[in-house]
Amino acid sequence: MLLQTDFINRLEHNNKLYIGYPPSTDFTLNSLGEILNYSINNLGDPITLKGSLGTHEFEKEVVEFFMKLYKTDSNTSWGYIANCSTEAALYCCWRAREYMKKYKNECVIVASEYSHYCIGKIADIIGLDLIYVSTNKDGSINNEKLEEALYEKKHKSVIFFATLGSTITSSIDDVKAFKNIAAALSINFYIHADAAFDGGFLPFIKDYSMCEDFDSINISGHKFIGCPIPSGILLINRKYIQSNKIEYVPSYDVTIGGSRNGVTPVLLYEQIKKLGGEFGLKERYYSCLKKAEEFKEIAINSGLNVWKVDHAITLVFDRVDDIVMEKWLAPTYKEYTTITALPKLSHEKFSSFLKDVLHVKNHGSMTDNVKTLYPSLIAPL
Ligand SMILES: *Cc1c(COP(=O)(O)O)cnc(C)c1O
Repeated sequence: MLLQTDFINRLEHNNKLYIGYPPSTDFTLNSLGEILNYSINNLGDPITLKGSLGTHEFEKEVVEFFMKLYKTDSNTSWGYIANCSTEAALYCCWRAREYMKKYKNECVIVASEYSHYCIGKIADIIGLDLIYVSTNKDGSINNEKLEEALYEKKHKSVIFFATLGSTITSSIDDVKAFKNIAAALSINFYIHADAAFDGGFLPFIKDYSMCEDFDSINISGHKFIGCPIPSGILLINRKYIQSNKIEYVPSYDVTIGGSRNGVTPVLLYEQIKKLGGEFGLKERYYSCLKKAEEFKEIAINSGLNVWKVDHAITLVFDRVDDIVMEKWLAPTYKEYTTITALPKLSHEKFSSFLKDVLHVKNHGSMTDNVKTLYPSLIAPL
């Protein structure tokens, strides 16, 4: 074994405490280890299959799998697997900004206060103003406040960064309401859907069509599906993309990165296949939902204030004490702490977390001394 065992032990230890963040951990993909012996590069457009040392055929299948889920195809849409949802969303907002230049007015980004922090960086990088709109109690954008904000910006073009599944509550912004408000104010708009986590199961509960309900979408490969390497699958209406022929390779430069990760597409392809494709993902979602509802009841019955959005597999607790969160890995934001009923959250882990929360509430101390571990220094190179 070449790996430093301390490092593997830490991963193993923390994996047991990783109950709140959205990445799934129920995969075993080491049988694909052979690909680590090649210099793989997915430079260029995946859809045209021109990469001789790439895995474009896998990337194309994964992208087209999501196109099918969102009722579109390669004739009207395009996409690639970016390094993360942040890059995917950056790409789409950048294309939107370029397209909106034709309206010859200022373009601004509008997002809810519950949108992911990535939008702040994206607005900064592409140099657009960002307007935050306050939300309803569940985290979804407040449509009256949205209308007021859009009324003030009615002589500008708007990129609406819609959150379809917020990290904290899984709340969903109403893209149809946005469209009606913007149309009534004669605003030129573009809608990007940030569906990093919920994007893996939203097609089973909502009737979304890409290019109709929104112009582009990002879905993280490492969240609902699960993969050892992070990624962000993006889909965008073809009318927004532009590419340049690369002089010295038989492909088109149409992505943010030049050299691109070609390992992840193979892993994602394999994992989606293992999970049983569209049907398997649907079953996976409904079994998570059932568990989320069951866990919610258990928590309420033990005297805690816990709630969730109807479709969500994310449970919202009143902010959990910091000493509990020195052990368990879950996001805490403002007045909430959330955990996610993914396959990784077993009944046993959930009970153990609940026991800690209740023990701290009633006695001010934890049930044990277990803590999250952080990296320690290793031999210098
Ligand atoms: C995780 C997440 C992101 C960012 O994804 P990265 O892959 O970490 O860049 C964006 N939006 C939402 C709603 C998320 O949950």
